[in-house]
Amino acid sequence: MAPLPSYVSGAWHIAPDDGAPLHDAVTGAEIARISSAGIDFGAALDHGRRAGGPALRELTFHQRAALLKALASRLRDHRDELYTLSLHTGATLGDAKFDVDGGIGVLFSYSSKGRRELPDDTVYVEGGLERLGRTGAFVGQHLCTPLRGVAVQINAFNFPVWGPLEKLAPAFLAGVPSLVKPAGQTAYLTARLVELIIESGILPAGSLQLVCGDAGDLLDHLTEQDVVAFTGSASTAGLLRAHPAVVARSVRFNAEADSLNCSILGPDARPGDPEFDLFVGQLVTEMTVKAGQKCTAIRRAIVPAAVIDDVAQAVAGRLSEITVGNPADPTVRMGALAGVAQREEVRRSLKALSAAARIVYGDPDRVEVVDADPERGAFLSPILLRADDPERGEPHEVEAFGPVSTLLPYTSVGHAVELAARGRGSLVGSVVTGDADFARDVVFGVAPWHGRLLVLDAEAARESTGHGSPLPALVHGGPGRAGGGEEMGGIRGVLHYMQRTAVQAGPAMLTAITGRWTPGAQRAVTGVHPFRKHLGELKVGDTVVAGPRTVTLDDIDHFAEFTGDTFYAHTDEEAAKANPFFDGRVAHGYLVVSLAAGLFVDPDPGPVLANYGLENLRFLTPVYPGDELTVTLTAKQIDPRRGADYGEVRWDADVTKQDGSSVATYDVLTLVAKRE
Ligand code: NAP
Repeated sequence: MAPLPSYVSGAWHIAPDDGAPLHDAVTGAEIARISSAGIDFGAALDHGRRAGGPALRELTFHQRAALLKALASRLRDHRDELYTLSLHTGATLGDAKFDVDGGIGVLFSYSSKGRRELPDDTVYVEGGLERLGRTGAFVGQHLCTPLRGVAVQINAFNFPVWGPLEKLAPAFLAGVPSLVKPAGQTAYLTARLVELIIESGILPAGSLQLVCGDAGDLLDHLTEQDVVAFTGSASTAGLLRAHPAVVARSVRFNAEADSLNCSILGPDARPGDPEFDLFVGQLVTEMTVKAGQKCTAIRRAIVPAAVIDDVAQAVAGRLSEITVGNPADPTVRMGALAGVAQREEVRRSLKALSAAARIVYGDPDRVEVVDADPERGAFLSPILLRADDPERGEPHEVEAFGPVSTLLPYTSVGHAVELAARGRGSLVGSVVTGDADFARDVVFGVAPWHGRLLVLDAEAARESTGHGSPLPALVHGGPGRAGGGEEMGGIRGVLHYMQRTAVQAGPAMLTAITGRWTPGAQRAVTGVHPFRKHLGELKVGDTVVAGPRTVTLDDIDHFAEFTGDTFYAHTDEEAAKANPFFDGRVAHGYLVVSLAAGLFVDPDPGPVLANYGLENLRFLTPVYPGDELTVTLTAKQIDPRRGADYGEVRWDADVTKQDGSSVATYDVLTLVAKRE
């Protein structure tokens, strides 16, 4: 059997040696071999930088997003093949869906976020303008540009599909090529995934590479522009983070490591209550999905001392209904661990835990299995432990990466928070309670130790995605032992692969650099009203100045009566005067905005199709009867929408009065046709 192929420097590479055997988790039979012998790691990284990077940077965020969507759709067509291959890793169909559908879901999610939240451009302008001088002649703007290196992914064995895809999506969207190094044990599944991606021809050449086998001297070749995204054990994270090249070249190193995640049951939940059942059900799910080989699984179940017996009994009852065995059998709820070596590792961890906890359910050395050999396959019973002295170190320190969890009693909310913090940093924690005060105390108490927190009650349970599911819109990662990293989290994850640069300049320069009109830059007032221009004709800086219009007391009375907004500041002179901000009756802010629209709008049908909102609206100065309003409306940002015959135009609106002071400032958002 030839070793699994790697895909480097634009070609498939098969190691010339025999490689090391990889075994089926269920039968123990050899199913593949793995070796990275003969790979020139320096050349592979260089290929990513020279071929993949430039090809990706030529595309806008929207173009990259469209490719991610096409890729997700293509992979969806091959789901069944990936599910079947997942059986060899010990995964049930449900487990495989978690991995495969979860990964494809991340691609879809980033594709949609990229189109909705990023511009159809190659540069991301982040946040607002920072005024740096007194007159506005010197301003600052943060820009994010793609790093010129490679995103090196080093992944754990437990998510061979989701792992690479959840890292590929944000890096790709940022414009940075990826090199994936899966964990050996389940690399055959990642290899097939990458094969499907390369075969699809959807991604630009050089944007994805694969190394099956040992990482060799890969890290020696890292440069300042590369990023390492590591997932695995805390000990490997510590080793790689201290690699001389990573340290000397300040390589961005993101680690998602193991953690001893907790779930805390509120004191309000008694047997028979919905929250009690939710807690028990969730714990059993987390122990058994993927045979507990989830970095987010609940390792510590922290429960009120008064109900620990009830919880133990209820969990044990539910675990006794879990059928273990060949994941291909539809009656099986829990498959095998990824390999017998992994099972030995869990047994060793159980030994260490046994110094502090006793088993209340399961036997580490014996399990009844369906349609498989319990010894040749890496099967293990779910094991529920109970530590009556929760102060012992082991349950807070030893991660048994399998279907194992420990019950720990607490006596007060402060005690529960203290116990949670003993994990020294976790990816996720949950608090299951209907008591809002308890939930708040726990959230504020444990938040500094967690990357994500789930507060579960009967209401949230109707739609909750559960304790163990990292979601692309939310940050995945955690402090301390959990690695101190952050992945996904929507566009936050994309920016991780980009360099944020503060650009300081004058408004005209900044307008030229960013392609967005910057307040203080020149405005173009031409003979043509900008609302008469189609998207292609409109330029940033195109301006209409309209007014003045005098605001009368009649206008204010009419608006109050017409809208029903008879707030005293607009209708009662004495009461308005008594208000610390006003000298008498003032015009409604919305009246000012409406009058401004009446001034700047060009009424006839034309290229402007709709106004879809206002942003950043601020009322700055009161408007009194007799004040004269003028509005200056300037095209600030023009974004043609791909595949549509219109685009979005953001206008800067500044309403001033006779003394030149700004009364209101805001952005007007419109849709403008591309052509007749
Ligand atoms: P691991 O032994 O730390 O390995 C993780 C990855 O690092 C594998 O790809 C491994 O490759 C590679 N690696 C090991 N030594 C290396 C070295 N010297 N240079 C370069 N790469 C090296 O972890 P694992 O056993 O695969 O995964 C289980 C652990 O991962 C658990 O502790 C779990 O909690 C954690 N995990 C965390 C997350 C998360 O998101 N936070 C997700 C999943 C799993 P080889 O396989 O080729 O050795």
